[in-house]
Amino acid sequence: MSTMNEQKKIALVAHDQRKKDLINWVNRHKEKLKHHQLFATGTTGVQIEKETGLKVIKYKSGPIGGDQQLGAAIVEERLDVLVFFWDPLTSQAHDPDIKALLRVATLWNTVLACNEATADFVAESEMLRKPYKKDLHLVWNYTRDRKI
Ligand code: PGA
Repeated sequence: MSTMNEQKKIALVAHDQRKKDLINWVNRHKEKLKHHQLFATGTTGVQIEKETGLKVIKYKSGPIGGDQQLGAAIVEERLDVLVFFWDPLTSQAHDPDIKALLRVATLWNTVLACNEATADFVAESEMLRKPYKKDLHLVWNYTRDRKI
């Protein structure tokens, strides 16, 4: 088990055609989100800060490695929630990085929302402001079996 605190570390990422949708989502849930620590890939972060006034800790832009930085943060248990509005209608140069981020987020049992409806459920959940013990049996079983 791994414990998430009351204050969550929330990463926000949107591909270019989805950035406006993510900004709208952040604005809708601003009162709740302001109690948490927000992270984002570079361009998404700059736009969220400008359009919502919330403070965002920014990683590199996605196509130059920002998605990989977020993946590393997940593996090091420095992120609790990933809201990732990836674009299902446009191919991306950094598609391997996107797949890798979604893979580690799933493996590490990260709260993961890839569309507005799921992100609304996450934002409205009472669990968002309570501590939560996260099950990491996929990771721990893998580690135990290999004695690493
Ligand atoms: P960006 O990166 O926020 O720098 O646009 C997002 C992405 O393309 O993964």
